[in-house]
Amino acid sequence: QLGGNKVEEFSVDKSRSNGELDKNMLQRELNKAIENQEFTIYYQPIVHLRSEAIHYEALIRWFSPKLGFISPDQFILVAEECGFIETIDEWVIDKVCQQIGGLLNQDVCVSVNLSTKTLESDRLESLLLNTTKRHEVDPRHIELEITEHSILENEAATIDKLKRLRKAGFKIAIDDFGVSHASLNYLRMLPVNKIKIDKVFIQNVISGSKEYHIVTSIISLAQKLGLTVTAEGVETEEQVELLKRMNCDEIQGFYFSKAVPFESVGTITASIKKD
Ligand code: C2E
Ligand code: CA
Ligand code: CA
Ligand code: CA
Repeated sequence: QLGGNKVEEFSVDKSRSNGELDKNMLQRELNKAIENQEFTIYYQPIVHLRSEAIHYEALIRWFSPKLGFISPDQFILVAEECGFIETIDEWVIDKVCQQIGGLLNQDVCVSVNLSTKTLESDRLESLLLNTTKRHEVDPRHIELEITEHSILENEAATIDKLKRLRKAGFKIAIDDFGVSHASLNYLRMLPVNKIKIDKVFIQNVISGSKEYHIVTSIISLAQKLGLTVTAEGVETEEQVELLKRMNCDEIQGFYFSKAVPFESVGTITASIKKD
């Protein structure tokens, strides 16, 4: 049965889910996390509705022996503040290419999230080109997810950089699409392949609702522009049916599967396909 893949990722420690973590302590622990191999990458399947092709978004997970499991929402911002995020993004890109290199030849694509700082970094292009080359990964199999607010600063330089990365073969997706006031302007200016509609729209997308009309319009606009549309945060069968009728291209969310460890990627893929 569809939606039977709700793999429990880990149990969240409720005592620290309310932002109680001390920032200095987080920073200190973050600094040691890569060296101590505390990070790992989970992969969440994204299902193409018509072709049933599956690709993945790489999502970082931090299991700290001292602090327990810390979700990205709790540490990515802190890592940005203390300038550590570039090192993390760099590690993610390297790990993804290393892990998924073998699968990529079968036409699997993996998305990685780039934080603002990483996107602005002068080293991003050489980093991406060198890492893919070292792991013999064709850039066409790597999609870079950027959020709308990450382009606000240093706009012209960032757009040029993205255009060069596109030329080199990397795909570009706008993440969390719709929540920023600049969404339409970015569609105009950026060399994107895909938009990912933010989950706030998808989670309330019942027939006739405001969200329904917004999502329908985003999809038809994107299709006129030749872009692929992914719906994020899809959790129910009703949402899937509605999105199918709206002609949405791809679906990502707990309905199909949460993010899973690399070792489980094959199993999850097989069970989604079988359904
Ligand atoms: P995002 O890029 O928007 O990633 C999607 C988030 O939604 C993930 O949370 C995913 O687990 C969650 N999600 C997926 N399906 C559903 C669903 O059906 N319902 C709900 N409620 N949530 C769903 P996660 O992994 O905790 O990551 C949170 C954010 O942290 C990400 O949001 C992204 O902005 C950032 N992040 C995660 N991994 C990385 C990374 O490797 N590098 C950077 N720079 N940022 C990352
Ligand atoms: Ca993302
Ligand atoms: Ca998102
Ligand atoms: Ca987000």
